[in-house]
Amino acid sequence: MEVIVAKNAGFCFGVKRAIEKATEILNKSQKKVYSIGALIHNEVVTNDLKSKGLIEINDVDEIKKLKSETVIIRTHGIEKNLYDILKANDNEIIDLTCPFVKKIHNVVEKCTKAGYKIIVIGDKNHPEVKGIVSYGKDIYVVSNESEIKSLPLDKNDKIFLVFQTTADADKSQKLVDILQDFYYNIEVSNTICNTTIDRQEEVKSLAKVLDIALIVGSVSSSNTMKLYNISKEFCPNTYIVSSREDLKDIPIDSNKKIGVFAGASTPQYLIGEILTNVRDEF
Ligand code: SF4
Repeated sequence: MEVIVAKNAGFCFGVKRAIEKATEILNKSQKKVYSIGALIHNEVVTNDLKSKGLIEINDVDEIKKLKSETVIIRTHGIEKNLYDILKANDNEIIDLTCPFVKKIHNVVEKCTKAGYKIIVIGDKNHPEVKGIVSYGKDIYVVSNESEIKSLPLDKNDKIFLVFQTTADADKSQKLVDILQDFYYNIEVSNTICNTTIDRQEEVKSLAKVLDIALIVGSVSSSNTMKLYNISKEFCPNTYIVSSREDLKDIPIDSNKKIGVFAGASTPQYLIGEILTNVRDEF
């Protein structure tokens, strides 16, 4: 059996920074510490933070009730109105929004003030995209060609285009080409983060030579699922592995060439555990 491990696997800069800072605050705070939604999209990590005392709040009415508390903002950001409410209620805000996401908030806000209409390539139901949308006014999210065709925009509108940080780079480029054919006055800022691009490129180049591809991470993680979808195109035997138990259902044997990839929110120890199991048991 040959096992190839991706060079770009495990925590990205934004996730690492958020976990370290949240852990530091939990260790030293005398008060309760809240996080708005899951800090990152990996249940192994968020359950660990909960066991250290982090209280995760998802309900908007509950968020509005927080007053003079310590509140952590998750890596993929929150909606502007929620941020403003937390601030107005005198909470101590620890903003761990990844700087790459924050940069999109800023550019969307600035371009909106400058009179642009904004298009976001991404998943309209993803919390990162909901956050981005909240910083604009005339702002539209598209993820396919038919959504582009239904946009209520004029060919001559002044348009600014941004991307969800974890968007599929190749699929997004196809949408950019279509948008540029449709609209005469469109400016593009490629906001897909480098971590995403590097991992997608690596999966694309390796998956075609593999018998089995294991994508270690959670199904709730957008970037992990993008890796899964890309890998599946080149290697039909691609599996998401969120714990070593998942390996039992995968037809691994000693004659296979196996690739191990991981999302940006996957802890290194989980990747190590999966690797050990693959090497020792098959
Ligand atoms: S994937 Fe990119 S944008 Fe998202 S947290 Fe990591 S570095 Fe930031």
